[in-house]
Amino acid sequence: MAYKITLIPGDGIGPEVIQAAKRCIEATGVKIEWDEVIAGQVAQEKYGEVLPKNVLESIKKNKVCLKGPIITPIGEGFRSVNVAIRQALDLYACVRPAKSYTGVRSLYKDIDLVVIRENSEDLYAGIEFEAGKSETKNLIKEIEKYSKKKIRSDSGISIKPISEYASERIVKFAFEYALKFNRKKITVIHKANIMKFTDGLFLKTSREVAKKQNADKIEFSEATVDNMAMQLVKTPQNYDVLVLPNLYGDIISDLCAGLIGGLGVAPGANVGDGMAVFEAVHGAAPKYAGENLVNPTAMILSGVLMLRYIKEEEAAEKLENAVKAVLAEGKAVTYDLKPRRDDPTAVGTQEMADAVIQKIQRRF
Ligand code: NAD
Repeated sequence: MAYKITLIPGDGIGPEVIQAAKRCIEATGVKIEWDEVIAGQVAQEKYGEVLPKNVLESIKKNKVCLKGPIITPIGEGFRSVNVAIRQALDLYACVRPAKSYTGVRSLYKDIDLVVIRENSEDLYAGIEFEAGKSETKNLIKEIEKYSKKKIRSDSGISIKPISEYASERIVKFAFEYALKFNRKKITVIHKANIMKFTDGLFLKTSREVAKKQNADKIEFSEATVDNMAMQLVKTPQNYDVLVLPNLYGDIISDLCAGLIGGLGVAPGANVGDGMAVFEAVHGAAPKYAGENLVNPTAMILSGVLMLRYIKEEEAAEKLENAVKAVLAEGKAVTYDLKPRRDDPTAVGTQEMADAVIQKIQRRF
């Protein structure tokens, strides 16, 4: 019987990398009936809304989704559709592995990190008050009353909620993940020295979870986010699984993508209870849209994570090994994986996917 999986092509480079990943996933032989729905600018043009109801309904019904990146205007216009999907479905854990692959030029050759980012709250909750609005001025007055501190009257305000509930849930998830995938160490990342009641709560809750959960099997450590940024650049080999609040998770996962050769090779998953949406770490890179130029690897590797999630381990192995082989050969790869960006031997997005499919079909 075929799996029914929701497919969101997204916009910008989304449709191209999704097409490449879909073809590679299908080449493993796993039967999938794709339930294709649209979100983002394309949905806005067609239905007058960026996140039509049928998108969330489809994911709720199928429980698994492969998603291309979706553009979010900076500082104006609609809020992020990506964040809206994670929040509406309570996909509270964002899992972003950062692994070195031979053939990908990068600072290090031996990285094997997993970033587990809390996905439901923090400054990403979207609770914001615009500078100058009367509600913002009222809020400022209230905050000044309770905090006995002065806020400039022309300030905008973003709220950073961090709960014990969500902190406990994400750190438990990290421990369960570490046990399942045989990882050895979890590092909780925070800025609790400054934000005592938000990051402080995250840290305190993490310590409590660590005490209860298999602390004998998995080492538990702590680091401030600023120190961690430096340590990761200097000695990333000292770390294994990183668990972080939402905003730090966003930043540190891009840093980790940088350690393994860039956004073109960094996959991800947004996981909730019994439901998951798989997407690359990278965004919609609009300036490359429709050019058949960008690297499909991150999206294909997100497909590998998806196959593992639906317990198609053999197909996942086959696909990951095919990607590894293509990267290691370094021939049929996109411009970003060549020594020079203007290398005339670089291939397009779909041609790189073809090379992966050929590796799968030869079965090594
Ligand atoms: P981006 O990741 O889209 O692009 C940044 C740069 O990274 C690109 O210009 C390109 O040089 C490189 N890059 C990204 N993907 C690549 C690939 N597959 N192959 C080769 N190079 C690649 O980040 P941005 O420019 O900050 O964001 C563009 C849009 O995407 C914004 O609207 C943003 O909100 C959105 N975005 C969406 C998601 C998501 O859907 N989950 C994530 C991040 C950003």
